[in-house]
Amino acid sequence: MTEVNSTPAAPGKPCQLHPQSMCPAFGSLRILTRIEGAHPVMATDTGCLYGLTFVTHFYGARKSILAAHLGTEELMAGEIVESTRAAIEVAAKEPGCQLIPVVSLCVAETAGLPEEMLPKRVNDAEVVLVRVPAYAIHSHPEAKDVALAALLNRLGDREGARDKKSLVLLGEVFPADPLAIDALLRQMGVEATITLPGRSIDDLRRAGRAGALAPQHPFYRETMALYRAWDTPIVGGAPVGVSGSYAWLKAVGSLLDLDPALVTQVAEAEREQAQAILAAQPLSGRVLVTGYEGTEIAYARLLVEAGAEVPYVSTSIASDPLTLPDELWLRGRGTREIVYRKSLEDDMAALDKYQPDLVLGTTPFAAAAKERGIPAMYFTNQLASRPFFLSTGMAATLGFIKQTLDRTASYQWMQDFFESDDTDQAVEASAHA
Ligand code: SF4
Repeated sequence: MTEVNSTPAAPGKPCQLHPQSMCPAFGSLRILTRIEGAHPVMATDTGCLYGLTFVTHFYGARKSILAAHLGTEELMAGEIVESTRAAIEVAAKEPGCQLIPVVSLCVAETAGLPEEMLPKRVNDAEVVLVRVPAYAIHSHPEAKDVALAALLNRLGDREGARDKKSLVLLGEVFPADPLAIDALLRQMGVEATITLPGRSIDDLRRAGRAGALAPQHPFYRETMALYRAWDTPIVGGAPVGVSGSYAWLKAVGSLLDLDPALVTQVAEAEREQAQAILAAQPLSGRVLVTGYEGTEIAYARLLVEAGAEVPYVSTSIASDPLTLPDELWLRGRGTREIVYRKSLEDDMAALDKYQPDLVLGTTPFAAAAKERGIPAMYFTNQLASRPFFLSTGMAATLGFIKQTLDRTASYQWMQDFFESDDTDQAVEASAHA
């Protein structure tokens, strides 16, 4: 089951009864199953388990989720705590098990699972309750935040001195991005970067002592609240585009108390490189940036900086003070609508209104654009799966967008071909085009 807006169509408004995001458990399981030495236990109705077991295989975690069989009969009989404890015992026997995240989901009886009734530790494994019911967590990116905050709250090492020159990079990104960021930060004097969410339990422990936190995505609210409670400074913005990367590098330097002259030197060199990339492959055209990853606003900013017109941006996450700087930046440069907790109907209305040259969006939205002969890319699989940050990521992302924009004629030919009554004529026309 996925999130469904509860309001039916009001007069004159589009229907809002369709699912708008996948089950939030996808987000939490995505990061929990990937941790080496972690064996998640799920507490929910058996019905959810069928779909969510698939996730562990889809994400290549090579481990199954363990779950008690909780059908209507067991739920009514109030056997949730006992059967969850039994599943935890089994998980603890897995070779090398050090962490058992217990994921409680939508069903009221399991969402209210009392933490004090679960063991805190079994054998060598910490047991951590992660609550991600879909009625409270409205998108899968936000569920990643909830899961990570729960783990850090339990495992983050707060003993001893802080590692003053270490930085936590927060947010799932393309694997090459943290390497590029780390290499640049080391030139400025940063001694270690820890990328979360990641595969290592030790990283979760070390992250508690970090000198600063740098969220790359704007939906890690609970994790940021935890770091604020720990009195750890938080770097605003992200290393995206020319001006965004420069400001971010300077902010890191300032919060980690690095040598200002060295930081300026590295930041300026990076800025020059980014400007050269923009000059080499400027964009033109109107692009709609839509998705459910929670990173759409940052992508829109990069495209606008490269010369594209982006009148409309939509995302599944809620508005947050962290999105405000980019939102103001975009509105000051011509973006007319930024829609949070968007629906497919919002995106379709934008497609009618703005007549874009390129669409970045979810599967159904990208399909709708292609049917109209408009180039479209699936945001998650095609865009968010390539480097994005700093000048190296900028080059990869902009190059890909430019190639797609250049294929407009092919998309239009395909539309003409399939809409033509006489496909032979269409083939002949294309041969002469
Ligand atoms: S956890 Fe909630 S949203 Fe996910 S499959 Fe189960 S009932 Fe549906």
